[in-house]
Amino acid sequence: MRYLSTRGVAPELNFDDVLITGLARDGGLYLPTDWPKFSPEDLRSFASLSYPELAIEVMRPFLGDTMSREVFGNLVDATYRKFSHPSVAPIKQLESNIWLMELFHGPTLAFKDYAMQILGRLFDQALLARGKRTTIVGATSGDTGSAAIEACKDREAIDVFIFFPKDRVSPIQQKQMTTVDADNIHAIALEGTFDDCQDMVKALFNDLEFRDKFALSAVNSINWARLMPQIVYYFWAGLSLGVDDHRLVFSVPSGNFGNVFSAYAAKKMGLPIEKLIVATNSNDILSRFFNTGTMEIKGVQPSISPSMDIQVSSNFERLLFDLIGRDGASTNRVLKEFRNEGKFTVSEETLMDARRTFDAVCVDDMDTLGRISKTFKEKGEILDPHSAIGVEGAYRFASSDAMKNDISIVSLACAHPAKFPDAVQKATGEHPNLPHHLDDLWERKERLTVLPNKFEEVSNYIADNSRVELK
Ligand SMILES: *Cc1c(COP(=O)(O)O)cnc(C)c1O
Repeated sequence: MRYLSTRGVAPELNFDDVLITGLARDGGLYLPTDWPKFSPEDLRSFASLSYPELAIEVMRPFLGDTMSREVFGNLVDATYRKFSHPSVAPIKQLESNIWLMELFHGPTLAFKDYAMQILGRLFDQALLARGKRTTIVGATSGDTGSAAIEACKDREAIDVFIFFPKDRVSPIQQKQMTTVDADNIHAIALEGTFDDCQDMVKALFNDLEFRDKFALSAVNSINWARLMPQIVYYFWAGLSLGVDDHRLVFSVPSGNFGNVFSAYAAKKMGLPIEKLIVATNSNDILSRFFNTGTMEIKGVQPSISPSMDIQVSSNFERLLFDLIGRDGASTNRVLKEFRNEGKFTVSEETLMDARRTFDAVCVDDMDTLGRISKTFKEKGEILDPHSAIGVEGAYRFASSDAMKNDISIVSLACAHPAKFPDAVQKATGEHPNLPHHLDDLWERKERLTVLPNKFEEVSNYIADNSRVELK
């Protein structure tokens, strides 16, 4: 299996190199040159597999010959054994045709653990084999950072620098990032927005000299190896419901477009997906795109679903590349225009093509609270605000003309309600409790560094604290 860059200039790489490289040197994102394909017979043969067994089957083709089946199998087993629910990603029925897939049973209570826990182990494996170290830099609006820190703490070959927007993550998210007592972990509160954090990470990568000197690597969803493990749970949902009897619709609470791109990959690989609902909060750059064909930056409005408060969705580049015929030069041109003008528009044809697979909804804070409240009253389920946006998208689709009898909608529950207690309490009157393994979270001591949104100061901080040997 080979990987190419969406900007068409950087050389093709194999899985190991894509893993360690993260962002391509031409500024693009990596994608497999071809999608592995599963036939309906293959899918039927997967029907009785456990989550880890299915994960091995779905991910193996992406690894090529970079790791033996046995080594990879052990790694996957070790990963999901640590999850707190026996089925890893339990699926609950809300209506005759609407289901909820819970993806918050990992150590940091958001779906990002499902990929990050694998990623930490893959990194270690690849670096140990090469006798190398790496400096991981990442931007987070909250959940990525805690998942990355938890997955990389105390890993000998890795130093981690995570940037989060100062005072803009929830107290629990901040605690989860700043109370991990490991020397290789650096939680940095940047004086800016999430997009500033993301731009900072891009700027560090685009300084090729700095990048090489400190062997920079990324665990944001710009890294293909972050998206790969997420493909698994879409197959898991489809197989659990029975792919022969159902056409699938997934409603995916979206920010950086990573999770829903993994669903798109699952469709390319043979899962019978009818539609993907891109569900956003009032930071609706994605839903505006899918409804008008114009991607246009507006400011970020803080919302009650902060993990989706973003202005630019970095993984959209992967879809754009596919939509415009996998032409790296064109992708580069469109994204340059986007950077310079703050917007771009695709052709009518391209928009129609996108809309064959994607639908989009924007759910504001009021409707989010309304859905949390209604689901609690009617179903006894407590949703976190991000999950509620997906569920609201599912109900809107179910009552639209596009709904058919043989369609099953699966909405993704992306975070545990206790991660966002204020919104949940406001909507339900209930205070959601953290799982017991986090009982002492509030007593743990915080360790963080506050830095201004200035490249010089940030790069100096990394230079002073990275353990990568300078050549
Ligand atoms: C990261 C995150 C999202 C957004 O996912 P993307 O892959 O960035 O689209 C939504 N909800 C929660 C709880 C998250 O942590």
